[in-house]
Amino acid sequence: MKFSTRAIHAGQHPDPSTGAVMTPVYLTSTYVQEALGVHKGYGYSRTGNPTRAALEANLASLEGGDYGLCFASGLAATDAVLKLLGTGDHVVAGNDLYGGTHRIFTQIYQPMGIGFDFVNTGDLDQVRDAIKEETRMVWLETPTNPLLKITDIAEVAKICKEKDVLLVVDNTFATPYLQQPLALGADIVVHSVTKYLGGHSDVVGGALITSSSDLRDKLAFIQNSVGGIPGPLDCFLTLRGTKTLAVRMERHCSNAEKIAHWLDSDDRIGKVFYPGLESHEGYEIASRQMSAPGGMISFELAGASEERAREVVSNTHVFALAESLGGVESLIEHPPTMTHGAIPVEVRHAEGLSDGLIRISVGIEDVGDLIEDLDQAIGR
Ligand SMILES: *Cc1c(COP(=O)(O)O)cnc(C)c1O
Repeated sequence: MKFSTRAIHAGQHPDPSTGAVMTPVYLTSTYVQEALGVHKGYGYSRTGNPTRAALEANLASLEGGDYGLCFASGLAATDAVLKLLGTGDHVVAGNDLYGGTHRIFTQIYQPMGIGFDFVNTGDLDQVRDAIKEETRMVWLETPTNPLLKITDIAEVAKICKEKDVLLVVDNTFATPYLQQPLALGADIVVHSVTKYLGGHSDVVGGALITSSSDLRDKLAFIQNSVGGIPGPLDCFLTLRGTKTLAVRMERHCSNAEKIAHWLDSDDRIGKVFYPGLESHEGYEIASRQMSAPGGMISFELAGASEERAREVVSNTHVFALAESLGGVESLIEHPPTMTHGAIPVEVRHAEGLSDGLIRISVGIEDVGDLIEDLDQAIGR
């Protein structure tokens, strides 16, 4: 079945006891045993819950994977992947990651004896050169946040296979509707379902998808042993979101493409970072690897002034000034002081993330209203 059909039906079955079309919110912590050890597959809700199981099956199907595991947040999912590692192990990661991912790597796991090297994963030689004897994992985001840099997943997967290291791809920005890393050779896909998958800015959650039964078993063991699980209501809300993922992504992308071209042709704007612009460094790979360039855009005003950037993000009326992304409503933010504030300033600058950068998450409102709002906020 095709994506839009699976988005609505995968993992979903009418409730056997009532025929309810929607998967119920199974608000229960425990399950009765008919006799000692005899139960219907569920014993305790940290280990398994039917609402969560429906979401896990749904997300696995959308990513084209065999197994899904859901967590209380994207970072709880990231944490579970890192727990596959031990002291002395090494990770090669992208140098333009989500700020919280950079923080858990360098401030939680590095002090515990896991090594990290950050490279431009868009440059395959840098990835190859950074892999050493102790390397167990390569961690990618593509498109990256906030500079929307593109990495060729299939090429990095080849390097990882050759060197026998795991490839983990955070697919939060693209969503499985636009890009499917497992099919390109990744071992684990990570999601913050808080973003496009949930899609309505009303739930925080995370997920892992894999087709390896060995990884699934290890990650499920970690999920149950550590306990960073989402509650059933959160799973229900996320499932409600994934049903409309295909239609929402179509509109996010068509709105973003129009706004990116409008920004790109405006004299008041300096650089525009959007993988759908031919001038973008990753345009060719993005056109091959993604079915559309996504709903996120970053840009600098002409002169890249931080002061003007702060003004613009405070002056919008339709775009809300807020962290996060991927909801139906448009958001605007200033990465250096908001989402990426945890990254040391020297590191930010070295990676090309200027103090004048603005990031927008283009929602599914009327695109004319969105352009009008940006136009008045940019002002002179
Ligand atoms: C938000 C985000 C995360 C972290 O997810 P939470 O749900 O906020 O914990 C990880 N990666 C990317 C790309 C994100 O945007």
